[in-house]
Amino acid sequence: MKLQFLGSGDAFGSGGRFNTCLHLTGARTNVLIDCGASSLVAMRQAGIDRGAIDLVLLTHFHADHFGGVPFFILDAQFNVRRTRPLVVAGPPGLPGWYERASAVAFPGERTLPFMLDLFEVEIGRASELGNMIVTPFRVRHDDRAGPCLAYRIEAEGRTFCYSGDTEWTDSLIEAARGADLFVCECYTYDKPRKSHMSLATLRGKLPDIGARRVILTHMSDDMLGRLQDVEFGTAEDGKVVEF
Ligand SMILES: [Zn+2]
Ligand SMILES: [Zn+2]
Repeated sequence: MKLQFLGSGDAFGSGGRFNTCLHLTGARTNVLIDCGASSLVAMRQAGIDRGAIDLVLLTHFHADHFGGVPFFILDAQFNVRRTRPLVVAGPPGLPGWYERASAVAFPGERTLPFMLDLFEVEIGRASELGNMIVTPFRVRHDDRAGPCLAYRIEAEGRTFCYSGDTEWTDSLIEAARGADLFVCECYTYDKPRKSHMSLATLRGKLPDIGARRVILTHMSDDMLGRLQDVEFGTAEDGKVVEF
């Protein structure tokens, strides 16, 4: 499996990075995980074939994770001229969020030339999505933009976990246990911050998780300024990881 960080940033453009957007691909897998506001620009910069993406999987409804969806759909209609069906999957409440975001971003009725399936995941229950087994776990971030989720993904013999945005919660242990790759948000180095992870906290928990490889993303200026003190892998825009 291959993971490319199209966007490794936060909501504030820290480090000049794009909003969160991960592109997970394999022999039978082509999935976008989160699609922040800047993601269409990030995809075009990285030369991604947008028409080949089967699924957009969303962790929560903050614009740095979800705001790019209306752009992706508009582009699919007018540039990509998509005819293949597309699944957008995310937390319960997805259809209402999608409708509101689309109405604000590009007002007016439009009939899509492809089938769009808005799929609400069931927390704690595995679903087959985009040729993957996807299990959503509830995390602790901001319920006004949620329920906020981490995902455990099993595909092509590999296990991948992405934390979404969250402060520490024990549900991450189950979500990421023994994963081949665990991508975890890590907002601060040691300052505790409500609704986000600090490296100081995460360090103490990673032995319980036992992931084979850990990559930190969604870093603030504080964290980006201390990368020399970080013993784990760190994301950057465009970075490709094979696992
Ligand atoms: Zn975020
Ligand atoms: Zn968030």
